[in-house]
Amino acid sequence: MKNVQRPDWKDIVDKARAAFMGVALGDALGATTEFMTAREIKVQFGVHNQIIGKGWLYLKPGQVTDDTEMSVQMGRAIRNSGRWHLAAIADGFADWMKGRPVDIGATCARGIRNYIVHHSLEVPPSPWDAGNGALMRMVPVALYTLGDEECLDRYAVEQAHLTHNNPLSDAACIFFGRLVHNAVMGATLDQLRNLADDFVAQHPVFAYQPYPGNSSAYVADTVQTVFHFLFSTTTFEECLINTVNQGGDADTTGALAGMLAGALYGVRGLPKRWVKRLDPRVSSEVPGLAEYLVNHSPLSQAQDEFQF
Ligand code: MN
Ligand code: MN
Repeated sequence: MKNVQRPDWKDIVDKARAAFMGVALGDALGATTEFMTAREIKVQFGVHNQIIGKGWLYLKPGQVTDDTEMSVQMGRAIRNSGRWHLAAIADGFADWMKGRPVDIGATCARGIRNYIVHHSLEVPPSPWDAGNGALMRMVPVALYTLGDEECLDRYAVEQAHLTHNNPLSDAACIFFGRLVHNAVMGATLDQLRNLADDFVAQHPVFAYQPYPGNSSAYVADTVQTVFHFLFSTTTFEECLINTVNQGGDADTTGALAGMLAGALYGVRGLPKRWVKRLDPRVSSEVPGLAEYLVNHSPLSQAQDEFQF
């Protein structure tokens, strides 16, 4: 990030808020087409571009799912603890699961049960844990570690291993955090693409050109899908619409595309008609939570100290 000119703090906060709102908007938009194929979506909707709820979970318009809810739980746990506190995050997940969420992934449920029963903060390594369930809740980690890449690496993996202990998931969690850091600090779409291409050179399983077209919950498919649509569009709205019309794990690819596109394009990129439709409990909490997280990040501490 040394090569990126340091933006005004208000711009950093704006992009942080848009990144977290992006998760919720992508989740709410994409849940409608989750588990559908692109062809089925085309037949039913033409282009799906409104937040209308329904889908296989029969959601209300604007309702969000586990992707947003787990992110919010983690953000609240950090804020309420006043520090990074993994057990508090696990407690938040446990409370959330006991509240019978509208959706929960099998790997997440197993990991949270592992915490409730054994008080364990890490599931054992598993080749079957290469789902996107740890990646989908990365936004609070990324915002809270702004300005400290080592901190990001550590927290990303710690939170991931509550439910998913797999090297592909770990690599994706860390790298998406890095993309959020760069975007919030003012990196352009081309700069993010260069970072992604370096990442793909190191981890060819995530290669997204030519786009293989799979949008399952397997983390490699998810990363390919998000990269493909982020780097082939130029607005938040276009990025999210194209992503969720691919179907598959559309709420999660939507949430992750929303996180990156939100961090890149900022609050003014968020379509007003979508923001209005979002569950008011979410839209009233998420921007403040995002602001808290960056205001307590290492970068913010450094700014206070040196007043740059
Ligand atoms: Mn979901
Ligand atoms: Mn999903």
